[in-house]
Amino acid sequence: MGAQMRGSVPYCKCGLCGKTMRRTSLRTHMQDKHQPSADIQCCFCDKVFRTYNSLHKHQSVYHREQRLKQRARSFMLALPSPHTP
Ligand SMILES: [Zn+2]
Ligand SMILES: [Zn+2]
Repeated sequence: MGAQMRGSVPYCKCGLCGKTMRRTSLRTHMQDKHQPSADIQCCFCDKVFRTYNSLHKHQSVYHREQRLKQRARSFMLALPSPHTP
């Protein structure tokens, strides 16, 4: 009597940092510490993405013209001026 049942609570180890915690807190821990925050912002709008892949996909759908314009502009800047004074 009075002896605590050790191991009755399902403990588990975080696969990323090795911290041991109750299984129920693992999800919160993962979200708190290891969930990659969506931090790649589209430069044309306020949308934020987790991967560059999805950003590029989004831009090619919603900002195709803007991207082309931007590319053209940087291309023009790279060229020597055609007008010599
Ligand atoms: Zn962890
Ligand atoms: Zn966008």
